[in-house]
Amino acid sequence: MASLMWFRRDLRLRDNPALLEACADGEVLPLFVIDPRLWGPAGPSRRAYLAASLRSLDAGLRAAGAPGLAVVRGEPAREVVRAARAVGADQVHVAADFGPYGRRRDAEVEQALAGVGAELVRTGSPYAVAPGTLTSGSGDHYRVFTPFFRVWEQHQPADPQPAPRHDAWLALDPGAAASTALPKTPLPEGIELPAAGEDATLARWREFLERGLQDYAEARDLPGTDGTSRLSVHLKYGEVHPRQLLADLARARGRGAAAYRTELAWREFYADVLWHQPRTAREYYKTQYAGLAYDEPGELFAAWQEGRTGFPVVDAGMRQLRSVGWMHNRVRMITASFLVKDLHVEWQHGARHFLHWLVDGDLASNNHGWQWVAGSGTDPSPFFRVFNPTTQGRKFDPDGGYVRRWVPELADVADPHDPSPDDRDRVGYPHPVVDHAEERREALARWERIRS
Ligand SMILES: Cc1cc2nc3c(=O)[nH]c(=O)nc-3n(C[C@H](O)[C@H](O)[C@H](O)COP(=O)(O)OP(=O)(O)OC[C@H]3O[C@@H](n4cnc5c(N)ncnc54)[C@H](O)[C@@H]3O)c2cc1C
Repeated sequence: MASLMWFRRDLRLRDNPALLEACADGEVLPLFVIDPRLWGPAGPSRRAYLAASLRSLDAGLRAAGAPGLAVVRGEPAREVVRAARAVGADQVHVAADFGPYGRRRDAEVEQALAGVGAELVRTGSPYAVAPGTLTSGSGDHYRVFTPFFRVWEQHQPADPQPAPRHDAWLALDPGAAASTALPKTPLPEGIELPAAGEDATLARWREFLERGLQDYAEARDLPGTDGTSRLSVHLKYGEVHPRQLLADLARARGRGAAAYRTELAWREFYADVLWHQPRTAREYYKTQYAGLAYDEPGELFAAWQEGRTGFPVVDAGMRQLRSVGWMHNRVRMITASFLVKDLHVEWQHGARHFLHWLVDGDLASNNHGWQWVAGSGTDPSPFFRVFNPTTQGRKFDPDGGYVRRWVPELADVADPHDPSPDDRDRVGYPHPVVDHAEERREALARWERIRS
């Protein structure tokens, strides 16, 4: 019997339940579909990263004896069916997708496959506990993280499995479907990305286990240190599964391991909330926030996007985002707060900009991270708690190393978090585009109007 393994957000061979299921069936065609609906909006960093990850998966498959990864470009509902027919497959194996678009797409593919007598088989998911699994006492989804976490923690994920030993791989005849070469997407000048693929991911994880985990609970808030795992992009593309990380964490002790487990749970919590309330990908989770008065994004929004607001930690974060497709979590919170509460721009504009540039761009974590900051999400930061970018910078980047790295004009000024007007003129760094104290008052006044 022949089947397809359609890789999406699980670009790995180890511990891949859908792949094991496919291999149990007989001959397997490993397939990736470049879907214009996802490829189109992705920024240059994410495209380049995905291309590198596909190259690594292709190399892994070849090393395992397969002719390589078949890549096709086009609408999944058409291309998956064409590929299945080309090799005579009657099953297409996938890890289930829980995002709003992924669910719609998979329903369409399932229907199209049924039309040719084939079926879509979902095994596993990108999460330790699949979205929709945990419900509160009232049968509803969890709206607050802590009770979700308490129940999530009780779930014992299955033990990680090795890569399949398989010797019956198929290739796609180049004429049979819209097959294409692996995408070559050169990186625009000035952008650097982490090494892609499951081997590079596991190497990074091992390094973090040895050198970072112990101090993670404290160091994770300091953007100037290498204090976090940098695994978000690898989790996004499924180069590693959280199950693999949790298995290692179960053998580790201390506050670092506990804190890391909690962060993984946040990722799962937001995926769960989005699964239950897909509208929150675009709309306010707490609907009254749609009534808050916002400003249209204009020149100040452009200054924020380009890292020239005159607030050093905000500009450092926005420049880091463009340079490496990643931003430290603390600085994601500071830059997001600045956009919503100092510039009074709706979170959706900022979320879209982040999703374009982040290599780890993930609809659930990003848009719910934004809503948390904007005060409109699940157990959000209260709206009245407005981050002061200067004091946040001083507190979390005490030696100014982070700001000096990403805003090199400020490398030799005396106070990188609040350069004097003379220093700004001397080094060509902008003066603040707004008065923070004034905008804080303005944000709170607007908020008072929707409270009653
Ligand atoms: C405004 C905003 C936007 C964000 N956008 C994204 C996004 O698009 N994609 C994304 O993966 N994360 C996003 N996050 C969450 C967090 O910033 C990143 O996961 C983290 O910075 C990734 O770096 P790391 O892998 O070194 O994290 P680590 O500190 O090493 O954490 C380990 C893993 O836990 C998960 N995690 C950590 N913090 C969070 C969190 N607050 N919410 C959800 N999961 C978390 C991630 O999978 C991360 O890789 C966002 C947060 C905010 C405030």
